[in-house]
This record gives sequence, C-alpha cells and structure tokens, in this order.
Amino acid sequence: MKVVRTAVELSDAIGRNESVHFVPTMGYLHDGHLSLIRAAARDANAGRPKGVVVVSSFVNPTQFNDPRDLKAYPRDEPRDIELARSAHCDVFFAPDVDTIYREGLSGTRVHVPGVSERWEGEFRPGHFDGVATVVAKLFHLVVPTVAYFGEKDWQQCRVIAKMVDDLDFPLSLKFCETVREPDGLAMSSRNARFRPEVRAKAPALYETLREGARAAAAGGDLRTIERGAEHALRVAGFEKVDYFAIVDERTLERTDSPTAGTRVIAAAWIGGVRLIDNVEVPV
Ligand code: AMP
Repeated sequence: MKVVRTAVELSDAIGRNESVHFVPTMGYLHDGHLSLIRAAARDANAGRPKGVVVVSSFVNPTQFNDPRDLKAYPRDEPRDIELARSAHCDVFFAPDVDTIYREGLSGTRVHVPGVSERWEGEFRPGHFDGVATVVAKLFHLVVPTVAYFGEKDWQQCRVIAKMVDDLDFPLSLKFCETVREPDGLAMSSRNARFRPEVRAKAPALYETLREGARAAAAGGDLRTIERGAEHALRVAGFEKVDYFAIVDERTLERTDSPTAGTRVIAAAWIGGVRLIDNVEVPV
C-alpha cells in the first residue's frame, strides 16, 4: 500500500488502472469504514485486470458547522494506515487542508438543492455544501470507477447520488450496510467521545428506530409514532432529539403510508455527543 499526500503522487500511484474503487473517509477508521474498504477490494479483485483500491483520509473543515466539533474530531493516522492496509487498500490518500483547498476556504461550493436542505441540512447549516464540495473535488482527483458510501449516513448517500446524477460524474455508487457494535450502536468515529455511563445508554437510539419501524410497518399513525419515539429517547437519557422522522428514502420527505422505500431517520444528543442513525421500514 502506498501512502500519498499530493495530487501528483496520487495520480502516479493510481497509474492507468482499468478500474478505481474509492472509499472517502475522515479517518479514525473503524469496522464501518473497513467494511467499505473490503467491499471495494472484493470488487477490485473481481476485475480482469485487477482494479485499484483508493482510500482518502481527510477531516474536511468545510463540512463542520461547529468549530469545536472539528477541533475535537479524533485522529490517529498511523493506526489508520495499518487498518487500511489490513483491509486491502492499495493507495491511502491523506492530503492536508492546503492541498485540497488551494484556493482557501472561500472557493467554489457545490450545493445540492432539495434533498440536502432537510434534517441534517437544517440542524447543520452548510454541512452538505461542504460534503458535496469535497466529494466532488475528491472525485476529480481520484477519478473513481466506483465510489463506496455507508448507509449509516443515509441522507449523505442521497445527496451524493443527486450530485453525481445532476453533474454527470462518470462513476457508479455503492451504498453499504451500517456496521454496528454488538449492542446495536452504529459504529462512528465520534463514539470515542463517550463517557462509559453514557455509552451504555446510547444503543437506545437504534432500539427506538427499530421499534418505530416495526410500528410503522404494523400500520400505526406515523406522526404519533414519531412523537412517541422522541419521548422514548428523552426517557432513555437523550438530552435533545433534533429529529425522528419516517420518510421516503429517496426524497427524504415525510411519508404518510409506508412502502418498500420507507426509512426511519433520527439525530439525537446524549452526553454532549450527537448521534445519527436510520433503519428501513420492513414492509
Ligand atoms: P466518515 O469518516 O464518518 O466521513 O465516514 C466515511 C464513510 O464511512 C461514509 O461513507 C460513512 O457513511 C461510512 N460509515 C461511517 N460509519 C459507518 C458504519 N457504522 N457502517 C457503515 N459505514 C459507515
């Protein structure tokens, strides 16, 4: 595996590969990230000739609406390099901020209308413009054939899908299942911030999502289910629920009657840590 930091080193390391399988991350890798890298490696190995697996690790300042969150974001590059290698990454791209934002932080931004404006977009103003901008830049630098994203960030998947479609990026996208701790908590780099007594309560988010999805599939009134879930989360120790919503999985608009493409999405705070997660409604 090669570790590269500049655009020139990156394109030299990728060479003229037939297929490039790309996993963008913000580092501090866990099993969720590794499942994406392994999926990329499986696809790369299936090709003839074999493709190349590229992982980027870049804590993107433009997607943090809260400077304290950016400052507190965990980092451990030596460990990330070893983990990426173990998951069969070929090229580990770890640029610094000036490499990605040569023009400074006031350059051109990509805005994806509609799907980026609800939920996370409301509670984290500017977040998805930062995500879309950095992903567009990384796509131009890496020139992937396939890019891999996690369903844990469901709205992000929809924002990237719309950007790729609207701007005709010549690549395909794969969305991979959420990887969870044994107690159901979705893996996240931010889980490192939990105090032990708070960590024990955090799986209530996934339990409440599943309970909401079951109740929705059983024909309950969806707005009543949402309100009940918000209450259940507060009782379970969450100090604030940003949203708990039963939505169409493509448009992210609230739905009144669940179909095969319905998801329950939520964001809530516990012990000063903001968690997001989502599940499918099993209809
Ligand atoms: P991040 O480093 O948090 O920006 O995440 C990089 C990629 O890994 C994104 O596509 C995430 O959706 C994905 N990811 C993060 N956590 C998980 C998880 N628990 N399971 C699957 N994918 C994940």
